[in-house]
Amino acid sequence: MPGRQSEEQPVEMKAAEDEAEVGLGGLTLEELQQGQEAALALEDMMTLSAQTLVQAEVDELYQEVRPLGQGRFGRVLLVTHRQKGTPMALKQLPKPPTSLRGFLYEFCVGLSLGTHSAIVATYGIGIESADSYSFLTEPVLHGDLMAFIQPKVGLPPPAVQRCAAQLASALEHIHAHGLVYRDVKPENVLVCDPDCQRVKLTDFGHTRPRGTLLRLTGPPIPYTAPELCAPPPLPEGLPIQPALDAWALGVLVFCLLTGYFPWDQPLAEADPFYEDFVIWQASGQPQDRPQPWYGLAPAADALLWGLLEPHPRRRSPVGSIRGYLGRPWRQWEGEAGVVGQAEEEGRQ
Ligand code: ADP
Ligand code: MG
Repeated sequence: MPGRQSEEQPVEMKAAEDEAEVGLGGLTLEELQQGQEAALALEDMMTLSAQTLVQAEVDELYQEVRPLGQGRFGRVLLVTHRQKGTPMALKQLPKPPTSLRGFLYEFCVGLSLGTHSAIVATYGIGIESADSYSFLTEPVLHGDLMAFIQPKVGLPPPAVQRCAAQLASALEHIHAHGLVYRDVKPENVLVCDPDCQRVKLTDFGHTRPRGTLLRLTGPPIPYTAPELCAPPPLPEGLPIQPALDAWALGVLVFCLLTGYFPWDQPLAEADPFYEDFVIWQASGQPQDRPQPWYGLAPAADALLWGLLEPHPRRRSPVGSIRGYLGRPWRQWEGEAGVVGQAEEEGRQ
């Protein structure tokens, strides 16, 4: 990805004519075009944003209130505007390692997504300082989802279904823009209230247009989809698809339901937990569940079998979650754990 270290290295998208010669790497022409349109729109927005970057030190413009978080790449501060007093979250990325292009990419993806109730709003102010690049977003003041997941327990009911439904809606919005999010994990889900009723997705540093060719360069993590672990279909890598996010959302929902990961990596030859899952799923016999899956109810089995389908073309889309709301997802959960679709939609 531009300007930042990551587990995957992007390769420039190939022109449609080249793709026709070597095949489309598993994408239909329509999918490829959707990704290319998203890439062109982002390039335009980056050019404009580069011309309007504010050149200033952050503390000339904003008063620091407190740190909100620290990621692998950036630190996020709660600040107030020195004249108006407006509270905002400021994400500051040090240069180096962040390149101007890498900064503009993340900033403009956030801007291009506009308004969605489950996505952190990015404000149109980018700042270049002597040692860093920064942009401003809506502050979300109850931390990220990591702190709400109790080890070996997960999230309290009915927060799991609420959270899953909102994240599915956010990811559908991103996919409808021709983009793949690529970083679903609790640290990137911000919580708006103490009961975890409302959440918002943040951090678009890994988001790329559909069809961007990527390769896995580090070891896989539980959220890494199996198609990224396999040899790529094209020499330059795998053309990325929204199915990558569906997989990661499936892993996250499992974590929210249990408080642990289903496996360390999706490699049947290296990870017995993954191997047991693949055998169980292929058997079509929900009652023969492997030990890590003991506490789940039939609706969760069916949902997660769809999202965690090893073949990306057969994998259910993120929106499939809507079809499973309103039924218990954990065996010990009665009506307390479920959330009605009407109730959820009313909240959005
Ligand atoms: P990185 O790209 O380094 O992972 P993130 O954008 O994920 O950085 O931000 C790092 C952390 O800062 C998040 O995990 C979260 O805890 C916190 N954070 C990020 N954005 C906000 C925000 N708008 N409001 C409140 N906290 C935030
Ligand atoms: Mg992050």
